[in-house]
Amino acid sequence: MMDRYQMDRYQTSPVCPPTPYEQRRLAALRELDLLDTAPSEAFDRITRMAARLFDLPVAAVSLTDSDRQWFKSRVGTPHSEIPRRPTPCATVTESQALLVVEDMLDHPELHDSLLARDGVRFYAGAPLFTRDGYCLGAMCVLGMAPRQVTAAEISTLEDLAAMVMAQIELQHALGRLDPISGLPNRTQFIEDFNDLCRDRAPGSRGMVLMFNLANPDELDAAVRVMGVGYIDAMLTEAVELLRAFLGDGRTIFHVGATRFACIIDSGHERADDQPGQHEQNDEHELAVARLRYMLADHADHGRARFVTTATFGLAPFVVGQASAIDVLRWCHGAAHDALAKPGRVSVYDPQHDDLYKRRFALLNAFGTALERGDQLHLVFHPRVDLRSGVCLGAEALLRWTHPELGPVSPAEFIPVVERSSLIRATTAWVIEHTLAQLARWQAAGLRMRVSVNVSPANLVEDNFAARVIAAVARHGVPAQCLELEVTETAVMEQHQRSAAALHTLAAAGILLAIDDFGTGYSSLSYLQKLPADVVKIDQSFIGSITVDERTRVLVATMIGMSHSLGYRVVAEGVETAEVLDALHWLDCDEVQGYHIARPMPAAAFIDWYQEHVA
Ligand code: C2E
Ligand code: MG
Ligand code: MG
Repeated sequence: MMDRYQMDRYQTSPVCPPTPYEQRRLAALRELDLLDTAPSEAFDRITRMAARLFDLPVAAVSLTDSDRQWFKSRVGTPHSEIPRRPTPCATVTESQALLVVEDMLDHPELHDSLLARDGVRFYAGAPLFTRDGYCLGAMCVLGMAPRQVTAAEISTLEDLAAMVMAQIELQHALGRLDPISGLPNRTQFIEDFNDLCRDRAPGSRGMVLMFNLANPDELDAAVRVMGVGYIDAMLTEAVELLRAFLGDGRTIFHVGATRFACIIDSGHERADDQPGQHEQNDEHELAVARLRYMLADHADHGRARFVTTATFGLAPFVVGQASAIDVLRWCHGAAHDALAKPGRVSVYDPQHDDLYKRRFALLNAFGTALERGDQLHLVFHPRVDLRSGVCLGAEALLRWTHPELGPVSPAEFIPVVERSSLIRATTAWVIEHTLAQLARWQAAGLRMRVSVNVSPANLVEDNFAARVIAAVARHGVPAQCLELEVTETAVMEQHQRSAAALHTLAAAGILLAIDDFGTGYSSLSYLQKLPADVVKIDQSFIGSITVDERTRVLVATMIGMSHSLGYRVVAEGVETAEVLDALHWLDCDEVQGYHIARPMPAAAFIDWYQEHVA
């Protein structure tokens, strides 16, 4: 009975290049992410039980790596791994069969093994098979004396091996399932996407669709009001709807808190039977139309309909040209863009992605520029009194020379920086350098006013006003020499906190201007309560006052109203003598624009200033 496991079947395999089976076996082992992980009680319990049942001192879960036996769990041995050859465990893996060695001394090929040197005489090991039939190693028991095994012991060892494999597969699955929805997660998505790409010919196409149930703000609000249980129910319901829509044959992956993805394999196997651009667009439009229909249904019946805005993002991909991570990122972007699209469905647009990547790269590079300082400088754009022609001062404007890209326009980088926390350091840099410049000019006997642009986020920073006031004092510059330009939108957003900061600054004598006036949504009745001194009418109006009668009337009204509320009025973007003339007639106070001068570095500006001061 015992002979089928006996040592006469024992052979050590010669060292040779891995066979295709061995390569796939090693890949299966590595994919489980088990090697070199910490000990785990779930496995140790089985190993202890094995040693006890056999009444032997040593037991182990031994995995066969390319050149070693690594023990996921062990009792009675100090080694965490031993060389693969010569070991009976490697033989179990290679022969894919249970092995019993009654006495190692009878087998000269094992005499050199570490186990034999440790005094081991007896070995019994059952193979650990994955569901796909790969043998990972052995569940083994070892003794210090020769021994025989009974049939009952053999089946016990096989049961223990099966328990080890169940544990391995359970752990593997757990890392791939979302605990709430029970759906395969992002890790599984990546694996399945890679498998699909391996199976398909390079150049064939597919599409990934992503459903996002809610944006982060909505999710946050919903959790606060209705609790986590409600959100879980909302997600379950959304998955049911998706499944009904996509059909049972498709796998839905839970790839983010409120996000689900599905791989649509278009089935075009070969690059040369690709549909034309026309057909592709038709296909996308069809998909978009169907998804809109599903969203409309969700909006009518879903539990989430009152609290969330669900969207779909689609990302077509070409096998071999995109990674799983790329495609997920594209879908993510498209699902976000869909918030602004009719029907809330959007298809990924590579051009948009390039723009996004450039913005991200700019933001990173700008962070470095701020740290180093040598890529940034200020230019000064003269502000001139319209009636006397005298230069009153300037607006400080930030300039950035990127080491590779060259000069980058603030119209491009400021909006990006404004949406990040870097805006705090940016405004601080501009204010600091402006005040230092003002102090140097003051020391040379030149006293003027310089305005600095401040972003909406600055006004709600902690202690923003106090820090500006302290900087003014530190540089010994009179408060009235600094003017802060804020846009209408800035003062309307979170207006209570912004208004508090503005009042503190005004009380310290710092001047305030409302920039880009006419482009926001502010109400004059609200602005009137702000302690501003100056209104700067946006250049989009000024350019056309000589050609468009309605704009001229609008500007005349803005000037009249601002005057009656006590503001000084500046016209931005004066590009021609005709516009300058028209502004005289409209009784504007101050002008700024290319017709008068271009923004200039400090040294050039001061020369210009001295020629234009009374
Ligand atoms: P802004 O504050 O409205 O600044 C006026 C912009 O219009 C400046 O562009 C200026 O060069 C330009 N400009 C002035 N006169 C004319 C003209 O006659 N014709 C034309 N076509 N343009 C004229 P710039 O320097 O490119 O700045 C663009 C925007 O970037 C600024 O608009 C401001 O919002 C922002 N910005 C610039 N520097 C800073 C800064 O230091 N901090 C912050 N937060 N924003 C800044
Ligand atoms: Mg400005
Ligand atoms: Mg402006």
